[in-house]
Amino acid sequence: MIAVVKETATQDQLDHFVKWIEGRGFKTNVSQGDNETIVGIIGDTTQIDPFLLESMDIIERVQRVSEPFKKANRKFHPEDTVVDCGRSVKIGGGNFQVIAGPCSVEGKNLFDIARAVKASGATMLRGGAYKPRTSPYSYQGMGEKGLDLLVEASAELDMPIVTEVMDPRDVQLFLDKGIDVMQIGARNAQNFPLLREVGKTQVPVLLKRGLSETIDELLMGAEYIMSEGNPNVILCERGIRTFETRTRNTFDVNAIPVLHHLSHLPVVGDPSHATGYTRYVRSAAYAATAAGADGLEIEVHDNPSEAWSDGAQALTPAQFDDAMRRIRLIREAVTAPVEEAE
Ligand code: PEP
Ligand code: MN
Repeated sequence: MIAVVKETATQDQLDHFVKWIEGRGFKTNVSQGDNETIVGIIGDTTQIDPFLLESMDIIERVQRVSEPFKKANRKFHPEDTVVDCGRSVKIGGGNFQVIAGPCSVEGKNLFDIARAVKASGATMLRGGAYKPRTSPYSYQGMGEKGLDLLVEASAELDMPIVTEVMDPRDVQLFLDKGIDVMQIGARNAQNFPLLREVGKTQVPVLLKRGLSETIDELLMGAEYIMSEGNPNVILCERGIRTFETRTRNTFDVNAIPVLHHLSHLPVVGDPSHATGYTRYVRSAAYAATAAGADGLEIEVHDNPSEAWSDGAQALTPAQFDDAMRRIRLIREAVTAPVEEAE
């Protein structure tokens, strides 16, 4: 349930109202926007009489929210959320960022890749130190040494890093290392203990859509994180499993505007895992940009045929540079003001 507060309400009246609601055993989520203030009420709100709230001096109107996701819901927070990823890099609410780097951290080539992607306009560096591989016999990542390399590259290039955390027991290590953005991979999208653990921090979380997750299930994953107190969630559409076998996954470009409609959280498109083949990655990146994504996550490798994972979908630095030029043009086209038709 949401209660829209009248413009004339004072801060004291608002605080009093919030205290009154919380005193009845509900949780609240206050969103003070430029245009209106909304108090989101979380709990079994069937016990609340909406007419009683509407009779209060400071309440403009009351609306029931039927969706099970509350904190992630745009009805609770009408304005876009801007997530601060560190090093002055913000995403959402008109801020567009490109996260690029190798699938896995492999060693010192991380620095060459990082320099190249930064020169082409990437603003965040990715790379997996802990890899969720489908086979236990595939390369599993460098672990803590990989995190150290990422931290070193981040300092040298002044770029925030995005890297995957797979185990709730590793969250403290990620905090100790000062990881800027923790990625939750598709295979862990509904690992609720992990979602809760990253939710107990304030570190931004890039939450990928599960292999066969609906949009609502993705938003419930975000709700797990936010319900623990971490509002810094970035959603990521990375392709879903369908009957199609010509691509690794099927890029659900629809999800981008749908997520923007339902939620205030920033939405990133990952064209690399969505397609699985280098030759298709750029087209999917352009589609995501045109659909209004707040950012992209793209795998780039200096020598894809030698990559330790996901070489088949990596762009070379030259291909990435070419893509970035077009991404900037598309971004301009979709954000430029246009004259109204007569
Ligand atoms: C990755 O980003 O390298 C990755 C494993 O992605 P996903 O979880 O989307 O498969
Ligand atoms: Mn990968």
